[in-house]
Order: sequence, then C-alpha cells, then structure tokens
Amino acid sequence: MFPEDLDLLHIPKRSRLYCLEPIAVATPYVEGLISYICRLAEAHCVSPGVLIKQEILPCFRKSYSISGNIAYRVQDDGATVSISSFRTPQYRKNLNEYGLLAWQYLEGLKPLTLREDLQALVIPPDANKILQDHTGKTLIREFRAWCPDCFQAWLVDEHPLYEPLFWSVAAVTICPFHYKPLQSRCPYCDKIQRPFSARMYVARCSQCSAWLNIYKKDTSKIELAVATEAEGHLRVVRQVLEAFKLWNHLSATH
Ligand SMILES: [Zn+2]
Ligand SMILES: [Zn+2]
Repeated sequence: MFPEDLDLLHIPKRSRLYCLEPIAVATPYVEGLISYICRLAEAHCVSPGVLIKQEILPCFRKSYSISGNIAYRVQDDGATVSISSFRTPQYRKNLNEYGLLAWQYLEGLKPLTLREDLQALVIPPDANKILQDHTGKTLIREFRAWCPDCFQAWLVDEHPLYEPLFWSVAAVTICPFHYKPLQSRCPYCDKIQRPFSARMYVARCSQCSAWLNIYKKDTSKIELAVATEAEGHLRVVRQVLEAFKLWNHLSATH
C-alpha cells in the first residue's frame, strides 16, 4: 500500500471506551442507565465507581460545569454560558430517572462511547404525568428490584445479563414473563439494596456479591399479596409497558 492510498481509507472515529450496545433499545424492555454503567465498567475490568470517577465525570467537566441546579457549558475560550433552556431538575434518588445526576453521566458517556442512543436508558422528565395517567401511581422505586427467573433464563440462554429500566418503576411489582413478584431482598444476606452502588454488578447483590437468580426461602407479606392478586398486578405492569412504548414513540418522532 502506498502512502497516498491511506487518504482513501475511511477509518471511523475511535471511542475511548467500548462502544457497548445497550440492550433492548426501542422496546419497553430497554436496559436502565445503572445496568449499562455496570456492564460498561465490567467490560473494562473496573468498578462502576472507578469508571464514573476516573472517566465519566472528568469527561463531563470538559464541556460542562454545575452550580446549584444550573448547568453551564464551557466554551473553547474557557468562558461558561448558562444553558438555561436545558432542564436540570433536582437530583433523583434513582439514577435510572432523568435528573441532574443522570444528565451528567449521559453527557459524560456520549463522547466516551460515541453512542447517541443512551438517552433511552432513563425514564424521561415528563414520565410522571404519563405514568400517573396510565397507572394512577407515582414513579420510581427507592430500592433495587429484580426477577430471579429472568436472570436465570438469561444465564441459561447465554443472553447478556442486564436490568431492564421498567424494574425501576414502583408500580411494577410482578414479572410479566414469569408471573412472580419482583424481589427486593437478597436471598443470601436478606438485605435490601439502593438502586446503585459504586461496586455493583448486574444480577449480583451489592452487599454480599451473591447471585440474585434464586428466590428467598420465605415469602414476604407483600410478595404473597402480589402472587395472590397476580392478574391485577400484571394489568398495572402492562400499563407501565404501554407507557414505555409511548416514550419510545415520542423520542423517535422528535
Ligand atoms: Zn422474570
Ligand atoms: Zn446479599
């Protein structure tokens, strides 16, 4: 090959981090941002906390700064301009819900992965109203919840393990595939877990690292109630998934 031939080669731009594809984008079963950050960290053999601290936030700070709830864009000359048109709601307890924290991570991840589809991994700002219209209930749950049978099925099928965004919705109490209550206590250490932690792995307990693909021996009263009134709970889950379809449609048409 001659040097002049090199000019003819089209070499796509390289991303600093893996351009990891999020799971089930454009479906109601889309992956949540927390799950994506955990999988991306694992692909780079670091913890989510290290990925955020050493890569995502430094990258975010190259282009933006924050004071209070106001975000500023950093210009080429170093000056900052407030981006008042940008919606910067309060911090949310759950990173899977759009808020100032989720926005920072999304903006940091974009240039690092060169992906444009990561916005789909958070519940959008106007979701409260849509979800309330559909289910009459408020939005996001405070603690992590999962379906052990989903994890087990993906392990058997060698499907990548992930945690769908709709598991973060408080109204979702039952798995629409396995008709069993979502779990929120580890089957080994019995602890509940915050939605995100710096040393978290998908499908593993963030307290004791045990796999979450089995059920606890004892069933809680809440789980029993969900199991005995499964049809009613499934109806609500279907309504939530309909709302997710609607967001997909809205984001595709804007
Ligand atoms: Zn399931
Ligand atoms: Zn545990």
